[in-house]
Amino acid sequence: MPDLKLTLVVACALVDADNRVLLAQRPAGKALAGLWEFPGGKLEPGERPEASLIRELDEELGITVREACLAPLTFASHAYETFHLLMPLYICRRWEGVVTAREGQQLAWVRPNKLRDYPMPPADIPLLPHLIDLLL
Ligand code: C5P
Repeated sequence: MPDLKLTLVVACALVDADNRVLLAQRPAGKALAGLWEFPGGKLEPGERPEASLIRELDEELGITVREACLAPLTFASHAYETFHLLMPLYICRRWEGVVTAREGQQLAWVRPNKLRDYPMPPADIPLLPHLIDLLL
């Protein structure tokens, strides 16, 4: 099998005061459209994961997250057909600003026991047990 290109994406489980987790729906026209994911995005060249996540959360959701409020939880490693995805998942319970769908994406605040009801990209599914264990 040829070596697959490595793609680095950083994702975050934002958890609110009611212990609900934010999921965002991938928009029409993008790969895996309609599936629900943890907010985040691709690392830019030379960017540290935490800096990338802080940038993405500002761009996508209009919130300010301090690096000290990002705790690494686990990471996904998934071979898609054309690339291999590595995706650390952070958890964050404190931010500044109001979560807003800045890119027109659908957002959902989901209780831990309902997370499995939301269809997710295959890379994200193995992350769920870690998060649910932590939150339940
Ligand atoms: O979000 P973006 O399209 O830039 O992500 C690149 C690729 O990483 C997607 O096409 C998707 O296959 C994968 N991905 C994923 N789970 C996420 C985010 C991205 O599997 N939460």
